[in-house]
Amino acid sequence: MSEELEACPLCGGKAECGKFYELSQYSADPEYLGESVVCLSCGLRLIEYVEYPVRKSPDYDEEARLRDKAKSLVIKRWNTRIRKTVGEDGSNEVEEVV
Ligand SMILES: [Zn+2]
Repeated sequence: MSEELEACPLCGGKAECGKFYELSQYSADPEYLGESVVCLSCGLRLIEYVEYPVRKSPDYDEEARLRDKAKSLVIKRWNTRIRKTVGEDGSNEVEEVV
């Protein structure tokens, strides 16, 4: 699987994969919720949430597998939101943001 990220469909900025955390009311530490892709220029973000069926008795292999799967999904979603056409001058033009 390629982890190449397309440029941001809104501003053309560089995007980056990362983990998504949110402050929790139950814990002092932010809670890990899933994998995300975020545009470093405008902040556009996609999140793929990860649910842990194994939360009570951690199985770290399963957890890693779920995180990898979420990461693949969010990258795929980010990249397929953009439909490209080749412009007359040979540049890629963003035709549509789905
Ligand atoms: Zn952007």
